[in-house]
Amino acid sequence: MDPREVLEKSDDFAAAGQHALEELAASMHRSEAAPGTVIFHEGARSDCAYLLESGRVVLSTSRSGGEEGGFVAELHPGSLVGDMTALTGRARTAQALATTDVVLWRIPVEALRSAVLADPQLAVQMMTLAMDLVLQKDLTVVLGKKQTTELRRSIDLERETTRILKERDQLKSERVAMMAHDIRSPVSVVIGCAELLSNRWEQMEERQRQKFLDTIARQARSLLDLVDDALQVASIEAGELKYSPAPLDMVELVQGMVEDLCKADESLNLSLRATESLPRCNGDEQRFRQVLFNLLSNAMKFSSPGDPIVVEVRRGGDEIVVSVTDKGIGIPEEEQRRVFEKFARVDPSEGPQAEGTGLGLYICKMMVEAQGGRLWLESAVGQGSTFSFSIPLAG
Ligand code: ADP
Repeated sequence: MDPREVLEKSDDFAAAGQHALEELAASMHRSEAAPGTVIFHEGARSDCAYLLESGRVVLSTSRSGGEEGGFVAELHPGSLVGDMTALTGRARTAQALATTDVVLWRIPVEALRSAVLADPQLAVQMMTLAMDLVLQKDLTVVLGKKQTTELRRSIDLERETTRILKERDQLKSERVAMMAHDIRSPVSVVIGCAELLSNRWEQMEERQRQKFLDTIARQARSLLDLVDDALQVASIEAGELKYSPAPLDMVELVQGMVEDLCKADESLNLSLRATESLPRCNGDEQRFRQVLFNLLSNAMKFSSPGDPIVVEVRRGGDEIVVSVTDKGIGIPEEEQRRVFEKFARVDPSEGPQAEGTGLGLYICKMMVEAQGGRLWLESAVGQGSTFSFSIPLAG
């Protein structure tokens, strides 16, 4: 097969410029391996990456002597392996083993670096993929343990209590694994970009350096958001978040926010629909600002620039109801309940969803419910979403 065809099939390289792809293809060498062949060893120094054309390769670490913790990931055709270690010049941290007949393309590190330099987006994409492997590993460990627990339950019912406690523990581990993933992704992108800048400063054009610096700033900002959200979740769950309820004119609050956002970004197609005189409601102004800001940020993030976003304020019985409607990507029905859970993100692997903590809606729900209100959504895939929250009228 032509190496260019293999490259074009790989998601890792989908973003690379045509010229960079041509050069990369010219540097690649095809090799075959039989089942049981070790393609590279953990600890060996890295001078190349491999792109899998066909067959299956399993990545594992020898740390746990081949037990469940040693498994890292299974690679399928189109996967790139060993790219991060090659780019950073470190020793391999996993071993790659062919489990079927495989066809591999060897990519020398210099050629890989040039492709990454030609397209910084590619670097970011590859680093994020590497982090996904880390997450996959964490989840595999968690799933393995879950199956063991299930087995034990059917054998010995007397251990029911232990099982429940164990499950809680596993849930915690899943969350910790996901949190670790969310923290490691931006940090590894920042480290990777900083190392590339440091090693290649002289060879880079001003424009390329700027792109890497912008990426570093963006990733550091998302890390800060994550830490802020995590701290807020911790204080909500510890019951430490304080509310200062007071009579509140919701129309005035929403109008102010809509005006400020439109001033800050003139391309925003954001409007307010409200009945002029509505009774006051009872709530903490700062907390409701945060809730509304979160819903508006999501509406912007999950729709195309220029698409209309409408905020509506109305009375519904003994409550004031605020709704944010967008014409964005929408949320599948089976995911709609889940998005209010901690760390829930619908298909975070692609698109703008990739940036986010999955904590925003959970925080909003907690804040609204703590003040006697509700938060809910109506949505249809491809048509858009409406997130609404209610708040009791002032007594
Ligand atoms: P984040 O946006 O930081 O990932 P949130 O808790 O605010 O976290 O949202 C959780 C998930 O719900 C998002 O990742 C996205 O998949 C989905 N979501 C939220 N708001 C919208 C929206 N307006 N349109 C489509 N999907 C949305």
